[in-house]
Amino acid sequence: QKQTAIITGASSGLGLNAAKALAATGEWHVVMACRDFLKAEKAAKAIGMPAGSYSVLHLDLSSLESVRQFVSNFKATGRRLDALVCNAAVYLPTAKEPRFTADGFELSVGTNHLGHFLLSNLLLEDLKNAPNKQPRCIIVGSITGNTNTLAGNVPPKANLGDLSGLAAGVPAGNPMMDGMEFNGAKAYKDSKVACMMTVRQMHQRFHESTGVTFASLYPGCIAETGLFREHYGLFKTLFPPFQKYVTKGYVSEEEAGRRLAQVVSDPKLDKSGAYWSWSSSTGSFENQVSEEVADDSKASKLWDISAKLVGLS
Ligand code: NDP
Repeated sequence: QKQTAIITGASSGLGLNAAKALAATGEWHVVMACRDFLKAEKAAKAIGMPAGSYSVLHLDLSSLESVRQFVSNFKATGRRLDALVCNAAVYLPTAKEPRFTADGFELSVGTNHLGHFLLSNLLLEDLKNAPNKQPRCIIVGSITGNTNTLAGNVPPKANLGDLSGLAAGVPAGNPMMDGMEFNGAKAYKDSKVACMMTVRQMHQRFHESTGVTFASLYPGCIAETGLFREHYGLFKTLFPPFQKYVTKGYVSEEEAGRRLAQVVSDPKLDKSGAYWSWSSSTGSFENQVSEEVADDSKASKLWDISAKLVGLS
């Protein structure tokens, strides 16, 4: 049996292109974990993924019930699990008011962080039992996690504060994790910081006992993906050339997909707890995370709160 990778949000952008890159090796079967079955199916065909190299399973990360259902549906397929890629995300930079998940969490935190938190915890046992010697759990991070870059310092900066908003839970909790006023761009950045903290916690808590490699990455600025769908029109026009010619951080969807596939399957990138980035001259390298992401006591607190919120403790 081929190795199996589950990729969330594989219906567009980075996830779709990583799915294509893995399927093209002939060694991987990709389970596209998507909220829109038809869109995923059409996208896989349009990008040229061979029939039989993938399957689509329904997953809506903005509902914890859907996450649990997905896990039980996946287990029922009897497939082995060699890699879990937590890639899906929403970004609501222009939202004036918060939106909420089925369980009442702010949409970016609920989808990008809490949905994946539950998913990765529920699938850990499957990864541990993978016949592959290097099972991996990858959670896609973002540049907001490294403060040694210009983009990582653009306001509003990520800051989980004292986590009091998240800790208050629903319905009483503030939509922002730090308990401050709602800001859609910051909510996204906070959620990505939470993703990267989760990877580090998983590494510390489970790497030794399970043998699973936990890693995160920043694939580059993929300026044309659906992630920016809710941004202003002018932003969408100017952002790609700005990234190409000014910051030089631009990367095509296809190249970003290859990078993510590399983190999933390259034997050289098997370091657990790592945060990967790429440079055009040297290729992949292990990058530094921000001070906040590296704050393990805050990450441990985030872990405990998240586990409680998703019903794991
Ligand atoms: P896209 O918008 O193209 O892809 C996001 C995917 O997430 C889509 O497949 C979308 O599904 C899916 N998704 C959204 N909400 C849910 C949900 N509730 N349940 C299940 N799936 C959902 O954006 P990108 O490809 O750019 O983003 C992929 C990852 O890359 C994200 O984690 C993002 O943070 C990260 N990233 C992106 C960068 C960039 O420059 N674009 C830079 C750094 C990191 P649907 O197709 O149905 O909308």
